[in-house]
Amino acid sequence: MAKPKRVGIYVRISRDRKGQELGIQRQEKACRELCEQRGWSVHKLYPENDTSASTTSRKKRPQYTEMMRDAKTGVIDAIVVYSIDRLTRRISELTSFLDEQKEYGFQFATTEGEDTSTASGRMILTIKGAVAQQETERMAERVNAALLQRREQGKPHAGGKRQFGFEAGSHFRELDDEETKLIRVGYQMLMSQKTPGDVARLWRDRKTTTPEGRAWTIQSVKRVFRSQRTGGIVTYKGQDIGDSIYPSPLKREEWENVQALLDSRATPAAQGSGKRKHVYTGFLKCGHCGAPMRVQWATIQGRTFRRTFCHSAQGNGMGGLGCGKVSRKYDWIEERLNEVVEAALSKRKPKPLPTPDVDLAAEITGVESRIRLLRLRWKDGQMEDEDYYDSLTHLRGQLQQLRTREAAAVVAVAQEETDALAVWHDDNEENLERRRAIVASVIKQVEVYSIGRGRRKPPEITSIKITPVGAGTEAGEE
Ligand SMILES: [Zn+2]
Repeated sequence: MAKPKRVGIYVRISRDRKGQELGIQRQEKACRELCEQRGWSVHKLYPENDTSASTTSRKKRPQYTEMMRDAKTGVIDAIVVYSIDRLTRRISELTSFLDEQKEYGFQFATTEGEDTSTASGRMILTIKGAVAQQETERMAERVNAALLQRREQGKPHAGGKRQFGFEAGSHFRELDDEETKLIRVGYQMLMSQKTPGDVARLWRDRKTTTPEGRAWTIQSVKRVFRSQRTGGIVTYKGQDIGDSIYPSPLKREEWENVQALLDSRATPAAQGSGKRKHVYTGFLKCGHCGAPMRVQWATIQGRTFRRTFCHSAQGNGMGGLGCGKVSRKYDWIEERLNEVVEAALSKRKPKPLPTPDVDLAAEITGVESRIRLLRLRWKDGQMEDEDYYDSLTHLRGQLQQLRTREAAAVVAVAQEETDALAVWHDDNEENLERRRAIVASVIKQVEVYSIGRGRRKPPEITSIKITPVGAGTEAGEE
């Protein structure tokens, strides 16, 4: 092989210990000595400063990129580095480096003497690269273990934006009393059938804004209650690993109650394609063909009103399309159905409270004590970090499930206690899904019949057929 005439020397200093020991000058000196010994002439130096070639770093290495471009275009015909881990610590990068070396035919040497012209030399290089990569990964593990330990001691992540409820600049260690008070009032509101929209209104009335200075919206209120910090819950890689040692606006149990509540509210709204705006959508069926009826705002001859109709381009749920033969004013139907629902609600007696689930509480205590034991064993050094973290994740998952079930039971009781009629009369948009749930407890379905066009007389009550819950639509059904 001809002697290279345009050698590129790549030197790199990184923050890791080895990088500090081995300054750029020393690397460069050793590389130049090697070139001299071999009679190679140096063309260019590529000094990468203060970056890391580790596997976990996503930093770009501009000098490395430039050198590879120069090697491919022939600006340089050889690359010399001090050692393989100065070039790269990623096994995948080393592999592609060696492939490119083969393809573009530039020479490569390290002062530690690897020879890439032979198969065994290449193998040694690959193994060295693998070892360097492993070292980097172990270093990252140590950092993670230290972080985990801090979190385990109940010290939450101190960085990030200020959050409502916490004192500015305190790194989430101190509460803002006024804001905490508002969060607690908001919590009480949510637990007594008020909505995030109601909470946003209250917080706006109290002249507060989000930490970014914006007006409170349903979304930003939900974010406050969704944040684990609000419940004093310490997370590690997104996992719940314990309680913060610092104060939090809500207790863990309270925070979990809110999650169950927000989850239960989110579910019905997610059903169907668009957002339901009319309380009886989904209950109305075409009396002619059985297809679900749509409700829409319509403007005819300058008058705007709501219309419900059988849509001929929509499936009837039985494999065919809607007949398109029925179209009615929605308001009249809504008024009739409201009367039915109200009559049913006023006759209702409060249900007995469900008996509390004793086993659930015992199970939770059991899992909690297993976590404590696990933690003790780990702190005593009886367990590898990895095993500890795996078991902890598993137990935390179990605990989370149990607590969610427990919280759901609490919410169910709270919902029984409130007056359904009061909920029904609150026809705020935010309340729609709860009103629909009430309808579903009274009305199973409503068949709507055609009354012909251009009628002036109010429709007959028989032009709709209401099937109450429990009546059944088919023989044999309860
Ligand atoms: Zn129809």
